[in-house]
Amino acid sequence: MNLRTMLPHVLWVLVLTVPLVACDEGAGGNGGAGGVGGPGGSGGQGGGSGGQGGAGGMSTSGTPAGGAGGTGGAAGAGGAGGAAFDCSNLPLCDDFESATAGQAPDPARWTIVMPNCMGTGTAAVDATQAHSGKNSVLVTGKGGYCNHVFLSHAAAFAELGDVVYGRFYMRMSAAQGDGHTTFMAMRDENDGPKDLRMGGQSKILMWNRESDDATLPSLSPAGIAMSVVLSADQWRCIEFQVDGAAGAIRTWVDGSEVSGLVIDGTPTPDVDQQWLTQKPGWKPKLTDLKLGWESYAGQDMNLWFDDVALATTRIGCQ
Ligand code: CA
Repeated sequence: MNLRTMLPHVLWVLVLTVPLVACDEGAGGNGGAGGVGGPGGSGGQGGGSGGQGGAGGMSTSGTPAGGAGGTGGAAGAGGAGGAAFDCSNLPLCDDFESATAGQAPDPARWTIVMPNCMGTGTAAVDATQAHSGKNSVLVTGKGGYCNHVFLSHAAAFAELGDVVYGRFYMRMSAAQGDGHTTFMAMRDENDGPKDLRMGGQSKILMWNRESDDATLPSLSPAGIAMSVVLSADQWRCIEFQVDGAAGAIRTWVDGSEVSGLVIDGTPTPDVDQQWLTQKPGWKPKLTDLKLGWESYAGQDMNLWFDDVALATTRIGCQ
């Protein structure tokens, strides 16, 4: 329990203590003290609610007969700062707040793409869910490869070097199924070019290399246990580092590194052994970022993306 969630409990104790003191003094019922204002809301969420009204005083007989409880305290002041993460200096940072719901995201940054074939998947700015502010992008993804759809960004990669850090928030309408799916794909000019992909299989978060279908982790029971499950209806913060010079990958979910989603150059059974031995000397050169849905079997998925950023250093889950 953190300080903010503790505060209402502390205040309840204070409020309840006041009339009990009056009771001990044998006085007639005095109105209870007004409640203390609630704690300020966190940034961007406005002020907290008003405090609880004080309880009525007690008569000497101990039965509640005193004056009415005090009125509730004033609402707490709004939280300071809003804590908005200033990412305006990054090569890419988009909270989708300047876009209009129902329309495509900023065309100066994003292109809606359906590589190779087109089906029924769609992508548009959406105001029913948001990690920040009021907008995100909703990808209405359908099962079957050609029903894929992505929002694609390339310009930032001209500013990024060998080491690319990414961060985005994602919310899925259902947990990942057993079938192979992709929600992020990045074109690797040194590998075909084919895509370096992040998605799922066997119900876990997984990387996949399109050119040879290598997976990270290996889909052994031990490998599966070293990744994470992305459950339905939760915003998750996903971060990655792709080091093209070293041929390395690191992955974080909600700020914690995922041990099964590491490529470090040393083949580790159940983790990156398949990845490294199938393609020795793998050194990715990324040239775009695509977020969306590609489902090689039948799983449909609605995905919301928000607060998407690319940088040369780790961005974090602010
Ligand atoms: Ca937003």
